[in-house]
Amino acid sequence: MSLILVLNCGSSSLKFALLEPSNPSTVLSGLAEKLFEDEPRLIVTDGEGKQAGPLPGQGHALAMRGILEALRSRGLLEQVSSVGHRVVHGGERFRQATRITPEVVAQIEACVPLAPLHNPANLEGIRGAMEAFPGLPHVAVFDTAFHQTMPPHAYRYALPEVLYREHGVRRYGFHGTSHQYVTRRAAELLGIPLEHSAFVSAHLGNGCSITAVKGGRSVDTSMGLTPLEGLVMGTRSGDVDPGIHAFLAENLGLSLREVTEVLNKGSGLLGLSGLSNDVRELERAAAEGHTGAGLALEVFCYRLAKYVAAMCVPLGRLDALIFTGGIGENSSLVREKVLGQLGILGFRLEPEQNARTVRGQAGPITAEGSPLALVVPTNEELMIAWETQALLA
Ligand code: AMP
Repeated sequence: MSLILVLNCGSSSLKFALLEPSNPSTVLSGLAEKLFEDEPRLIVTDGEGKQAGPLPGQGHALAMRGILEALRSRGLLEQVSSVGHRVVHGGERFRQATRITPEVVAQIEACVPLAPLHNPANLEGIRGAMEAFPGLPHVAVFDTAFHQTMPPHAYRYALPEVLYREHGVRRYGFHGTSHQYVTRRAAELLGIPLEHSAFVSAHLGNGCSITAVKGGRSVDTSMGLTPLEGLVMGTRSGDVDPGIHAFLAENLGLSLREVTEVLNKGSGLLGLSGLSNDVRELERAAAEGHTGAGLALEVFCYRLAKYVAAMCVPLGRLDALIFTGGIGENSSLVREKVLGQLGILGFRLEPEQNARTVRGQAGPITAEGSPLALVVPTNEELMIAWETQALLA
């Protein structure tokens, strides 16, 4: 068996999955966490269940060593043929998955100003993994690459041209692997050729974004220069008036760093509700009469419904609206509220089908005669494994 190790590195944690690309279920997966705390640990999930153990020390390189040992002790190390790395920002340099060389590492580094929180962690992971697995090919799969097919009128902001030309200020878009995976799956489920398909894909997890995908190519998306633009998210504001920065600075005396912190970490569902960023908790609280929780869900769904309508513009025709991610796959309430506001496009929910569709299940949730809305579970790790395999083939 030829297995692909997929790595997703955050600043203090590292997720991994070991996959056989022709099979959607993972052979082994896990999480190395608390990488810079006193007791970093590795949690591994395999056929036998979950096992947690200490890592040999702090940092990404030692986490990678721990993963290597976890593979070796299960007799899987010899079967690993390549490593696929999730990299958040590839700027305009990367339009597709790319084999990692020292030059590619330098180019990912050059994208750090565009993703100062994510790319440095991704690079740590790449360095650690290249040290731990020196004999294997390593491939970078970029969150932004899928969106590089957007036309200029979708990716340019109405800002002075010099900001784009000299500083790369434009819409890049994120969650590319998820949007690519679910639209491929949807075309497969509907039996239509991908090159003739037209989908609006709503990835609703901790981060949320929506993409118009025509013929298998992204033509517009809600996230922008950074993953802050667009939909309401768990703790991120999504769209706000750009004048808000000056207002907060001048009237509340907030620094640029503090404004960024409020918009990224204290806003969204959490900020609106004053309670939680978790839709499960907000649904429970709203049912018990918590007004903040109720409002947070209303704003979330209304913004999403508006964006669904907007994303139909570049498509001309719609084969399906796709819901995915933790919220999209699980929250029948969110799906109901969103479709309830899209009567103008003819959407009508099929309530029982909607209530029955929970995590892991794919299927339609709309009534006969309505445009189609589908739930499609995402699998970003599998998409990264496919991209890695395709490139190396
Ligand atoms: P993800 O980032 O895709 O794992 O999504 C995480 C988010 O999905 C959580 O913060 C929750 O808001 C949401 N979520 C997970 N399970 C459920 C559920 N059963 N019902 C509603 N929302 C859920």
